[in-house]
Amino acid sequence: MSAAAAGGFSVIVERLLILWHFIATRWLPAPRDREKRLRRFLAEAPHFADVMTKPLFLEHFAALNRHGITLEQATAVALRAERERDFKPELPGGITAGLSSGTSGARQVFLVGREDRCRWAGQMMARMLSTASLCRIWNFFTPPLRIAFFLRASSNLYTTLSSLRLKFEYFDLTRPFKELLTRLDDYRPHVLVAPATVLAELARSARARPKQVISVAEVLDAKDRAAIEQAFGVRVAEIYQAAEGFLGCTCTHGRMHLNEESLHIEPQWLDERHERFHPLITDFSRQTQWFVRHRLDDILRLDPTPCPCGRKTMTLRGIEGRAEEVLWLRDASGALSPVFPDVLRQALYTQPVGLYRIEQHGLRWEVRLLNGDEKAVQSALEALLDGLRLEQPELQFLPWTDQPSSEKQKRIRCSLKPSTPPETPAACK
Ligand SMILES: [Zn+2]
Repeated sequence: MSAAAAGGFSVIVERLLILWHFIATRWLPAPRDREKRLRRFLAEAPHFADVMTKPLFLEHFAALNRHGITLEQATAVALRAERERDFKPELPGGITAGLSSGTSGARQVFLVGREDRCRWAGQMMARMLSTASLCRIWNFFTPPLRIAFFLRASSNLYTTLSSLRLKFEYFDLTRPFKELLTRLDDYRPHVLVAPATVLAELARSARARPKQVISVAEVLDAKDRAAIEQAFGVRVAEIYQAAEGFLGCTCTHGRMHLNEESLHIEPQWLDERHERFHPLITDFSRQTQWFVRHRLDDILRLDPTPCPCGRKTMTLRGIEGRAEEVLWLRDASGALSPVFPDVLRQALYTQPVGLYRIEQHGLRWEVRLLNGDEKAVQSALEALLDGLRLEQPELQFLPWTDQPSSEKQKRIRCSLKPSTPPETPAACK
């Protein structure tokens, strides 16, 4: 008996569920009972705090999933999978434990059951596959659709998608990059899925000609986007996903929609103009873990204009990364004021620089450039901070060092905020 059948969940049921979620997401109108489902969900959900934070979530991990799985059990399974590079083992009840790093570098363990997995697979295909890619799946006279997936870790979540008409090849980012390139050239994927910085690297060196390119797991900056689109000759689509679930994706008009059909999202505003916010996520569709008013560290920028695609969910101008990517400087009054990562990135786009990393240590910023003009970067940063009316930090230029490609590429990071009177430096959150 297969493991799936043993869990009372046959492969046929799985396939039917995926197909149902696919059809519902792609072709059916948004369900009208959203409010009712949300209310029912909130009435059932365990309540620990008004706003759920990551430390609280980890503290109550076992009570916040329907199977009583402890954080230690989940972490052990997820870490063993990473270590042994075998991502198939499940916890009792067909639960998969995975490690996610979302847009940040901090890993978080998450649980998904088979129903969650099927919903995820159906929704993901419905939202991301182009009509041409779908036609290839349905057309039995052509070879199956080939998807290449570059990630630090695979998961049952992703391989759920594999079928007769859909080939799914996992490229393990902990392997040497050259080896992956050779494999990619042989595999010739129709759909290429990878973190933004990996896509940028593939754009430089790969010979593959995918019909669809999808960026995941990292913030895609404008410069990388332009390089990737030029190299592959197609528009890059984006998936916004974290341990907290499938949070959003771009539509055919290139706008990032939040997945409000399955999630209830409350903005926690960061500015008076109601432009930037941390989202509070309530996932009323997930079966395994309870996510109730779960605060994400990501900074989202709202786009208030309706999207021409007609989908009525919140859309974003951008995802600006995590709270730790915000740098802090004192203004004229001595109070700390944020410098958002997106603003820094924009200031650097126009400069002659290949890659960069900026790390804040109080009033000292360590800047590393690959093939960059230090003088030009220095004056661009000074002009930006002058414009923001902020105190200038000491810019310390250091030699470039490569980060392993399996690591999340953090370009901007705050290690320590400057002190404000009285002299108490605060660790960046
Ligand atoms: Zn749209």
